[in-house]
Amino acid sequence: MRDCCTPEGGAYDLAVIGAGSAGFSAAITAAEAGARVALIGDGTIGGTCVNVGCVPSKALIRAVEGLHHARAANRFDGIQAEARVTDWAATVAQKQVLVEELRAVKYVDVLPRHENIDYIEGRASFDGEGRLTVNGAVFPATKVVIATGSRPHMPAIPGIEEVDALDSTSALELTELPASMLVLGAGHIGVELAQLFARAGVEVTLISRRGVLPEAEPEISQALEGYLSEEGIRLVRVAGYESVTCDGDTVRLTTTDGAIFDAERLLLATGRVPNSDGLNLGSAGIETDVRGGIVTDAQMRTANPNVWAAGDVTGRDQFVYMAAYGAKLAARNAVADEVRSYDNGTMPWVVFSDPQVAGVGLSEAQVRAAGHEVVTSVLPLDALPRALAARDTRGLIKLVAEAGSKRLLGAQILAPEGADSIQTAAMALKAGLTYEELGDTIMPYLTTVEGLKLAAQTFEKDVAALSCCAG
Ligand SMILES: Cc1cc2nc3c(=O)[nH]c(=O)nc-3n(C[C@H](O)[C@H](O)[C@H](O)COP(=O)(O)OP(=O)(O)OC[C@H]3O[C@@H](n4cnc5c(N)ncnc54)[C@H](O)[C@@H]3O)c2cc1C
Repeated sequence: MRDCCTPEGGAYDLAVIGAGSAGFSAAITAAEAGARVALIGDGTIGGTCVNVGCVPSKALIRAVEGLHHARAANRFDGIQAEARVTDWAATVAQKQVLVEELRAVKYVDVLPRHENIDYIEGRASFDGEGRLTVNGAVFPATKVVIATGSRPHMPAIPGIEEVDALDSTSALELTELPASMLVLGAGHIGVELAQLFARAGVEVTLISRRGVLPEAEPEISQALEGYLSEEGIRLVRVAGYESVTCDGDTVRLTTTDGAIFDAERLLLATGRVPNSDGLNLGSAGIETDVRGGIVTDAQMRTANPNVWAAGDVTGRDQFVYMAAYGAKLAARNAVADEVRSYDNGTMPWVVFSDPQVAGVGLSEAQVRAAGHEVVTSVLPLDALPRALAARDTRGLIKLVAEAGSKRLLGAQILAPEGADSIQTAAMALKAGLTYEELGDTIMPYLTTVEGLKLAAQTFEKDVAALSCCAG
C-alpha cells in the first residue's frame, strides 16, 4: 500500500478504479504487460464476490443443502435421517472465516507478487475538468479502467426508507434467523436467498412481478416454481407495490391490488445498480445508459478514448467471471494497444437453487425474436438414469437449435448439481456443433451430463425406446 503520489518517472500508465474482481483482473493483466499500474480501492478490498456475493452466499447455500439432503434421504427405503439448525450464528461465523481466508489468499496476498502495481486506498472520481482524482487530489494516470461494481437496488416503494429492510449483503450477515421473511424479487439472487432461508427454517414468501427467473425458459421457470413451493416457499405474483410499513415486529407490504403480506423481515432482491453515480462521469465525457451502466464499445472503451470500463458497473453480464474477462480485455486494449472484443455468445450462467438452473446461448424465444426457425428438445429428468438412481427426478433439459442446419443455439438445464454440466453445452455451442454431433458424443453413463446427449437425441428419437447406453 502506498500514498497517493506520482510514481517515479511520471504518471502511471494505467489507473484502475475499484479493487474488486474486475479491478484485480485489469491491474494484473496490465502489470503483466509491463505497465505501471495504480489500483485504487475504496471499501473492503476484494469487492462484492468474495466479501458479500458469490462466496458467502454459496457457503451458506451449501450449509442448508446439508439440511435438505438429510431430510430427503428418507426417499431411500431403510434410511432415516434428520438435520436441523442448532446455532445459525456459528454457521454464519464459519462462513465469515472462509470469506476472510479467501479475501487474503485471492486478493490481499496477491498484490505484493506484482511489483508494478501500487495499491492506493481512496475514493476516485473525475473533477470538473475531467481529470482523475483520488480523495479530491488530481491523480497522475495516462489511461483509466473503471471497475467500480454495483450495489443492491432499493425499489421506490412508499415507506421503504422507514423499514429496516435487508438486502443480499445484510441478509448473509444475519446471526439470528427470523420466523418469517418476505423476499421481493425472484431473479437469481432472490431465488437463491429465498430457498436458503426457507431451508434454514424461515417461513418465506417470495414475491415478484414477473415470476421466478423470468429470463429462463418458461418450462424451467414453471418447474422450479413447483419445486420451491413443494419446499414450503409461498410464491406470489403481484402487479405492483403500494407501500411498506412497519408495526412493532412486523413489516407489512401492500400491493397495488390491495393484497397484504406481513412478515418479521423484508429482504430486497430487486436487482443491482451500477456504481457509476458519484464518479462525475459527465465531466470526463463518459456516457451511461438509462440504468446507470457505463456504455462501452465492444473493446470496453467508453466515449472517452482514454477510459475503459468493465464488470458490474457496465450493467451487463453481472457475474464475476464476466467481470474478470471484460477487465482483462479492457486492460490489454488500454496498455498493449490491442483490439480484443467482448464476446458473451457462449457465456454460461448459473443459478444456485436446488435443483440448479444453468444456461448458455439463446432461449427459444430469443431465437424466434431473431427471426430464425427453431427446433427444440425437452428431456424430463425422469428419462435420465442418474436421476432415477438418485431417486430425484426434479428437472429437465431443454436444447434449442436452428431448424435445417441442426446447429445448437442454446441449452438450459434444471437439475440437481446440473450447473457443472452446462460447460459441455457451452463447448458444443462454441464449436458450432449440431444436435446430431452432440448426440453422437461419448458421455459417461450415470452422470448428469449424459442428459445433454439424451436431450440431443430427443430431437429425432424417443429416448424411451433406447436401451441403456446404446444411443
Ligand atoms: C449475493 C450475490 C451472489 C452472487 N453470486 C455469484 C455467483 O455465484 N457467481 C458469479 O459469477 N457471480 C455472482 N455474483 C455477482 C458477482 O459478485 C459480481 O458480478 C462481481 O463481484 C462484480 O465484480 P466487479 O469487480 O465488477 O465489482 P465489485 O466486486 O463490486 O468491485 C467494485 C469495487 O469498487 C469499489 N469502488 C466503488 N466506487 C469506487 C470509487 N469511486 N473509488 C474507488 N473504489 C470504488 C467498491 O467498493 C468495490 O470494492 C453475486 C452477487 C451477489 C450480490
